[in-house]
Amino acid sequence: MKCYKVQKLLFRVAVGEVPEDLKEKIEFHLASCPECQKELELVKMEREFLRSVLSPEPPSYLLTRILARIKSAEEQRRRAWLPRVAWYMATGLLIAVGIGLGSFIGRSLANNGSTNLDYVTLNTEPSLEELFAIQDNQLGRR
Ligand SMILES: [Zn+2]
Repeated sequence: MKCYKVQKLLFRVAVGEVPEDLKEKIEFHLASCPECQKELELVKMEREFLRSVLSPEPPSYLLTRILARIKSAEEQRRRAWLPRVAWYMATGLLIAVGIGLGSFIGRSLANNGSTNLDYVTLNTEPSLEELFAIQDNQLGRR
């Protein structure tokens, strides 16, 4: 029997469902072929792994290990994620400030090139001249 023919049937060997007429030939080949023996071991390990994953009640140590791995992966992602969010927010803030400043200057320049007009209307605090005027008013009343 050739290796490729045996290896095609290795899953059935691992499950124990080898056709009776091939059983002796496969066993004879496996006994003398280390390559196919290795393949059979791999198939058995794969089957074992699949059974442990698909099992409705996985061993508790497996569950703990998987959960721990998921948790650490999430923590790593969060650690990589936070600084990026801060960076995006800072960039967004800078862009917002830039747009605000740009539109303010643009509006001021559109207004006959005078930048003081908008500034005065936005400034709620009285200027020095206004303060003096108020003071003069109060002194004049006395
Ligand atoms: Zn072989």
